Amino acid sequence: MKEFVCILCPNGCRLRAGFEPDGETFRVEGNSCPRGAAFARTELTAPVRTLTTTVRAVGGERPVLAVRTAGEIPRAKLMEAMEAISRLTVRPPVRRGEVIVHNLLGAGIDLIATDDLAAVLQGGLKDVTPL
Ligand code: SF4
Repeated sequence: MKEFVCILCPNGCRLRAGFEPDGETFRVEGNSCPRGAAFARTELTAPVRTLTTTVRAVGGERPVLAVRTAGEIPRAKLMEAMEAISRLTVRPPVRRGEVIVHNLLGAGIDLIATDDLAAVLQGGLKDVTPL
């Protein structure tokens, strides 16, 4: 049995989970809801995470843009994804929810902006869209 914390909600239940010696029966203890049981099984068989990070921005009101994967990707691909993202540069304006990379690493998950980032014109003026 392996011990770890469920990260799906702020309760942070302490889980004990693992397969019985028959290799098929899966047992979970410490979860306060069924989501925790499903999380435990995924965590022990094919762990996944939503990746949250930033991308370099050129010509924006901030030097970086906050991004995240639109879904979960295999935990084993996180470092490869971070390396690919570290090579990216975006040119604002960017809107929250805009897709920055389609199908990141071929995992079927997009990388999306989690914030707006306005462009800055030469001389430091903001690129303001007229109403
Ligand atoms: S087991 Fe359920 S209640 Fe406990 S942390 Fe996970 S999601 Fe939250």
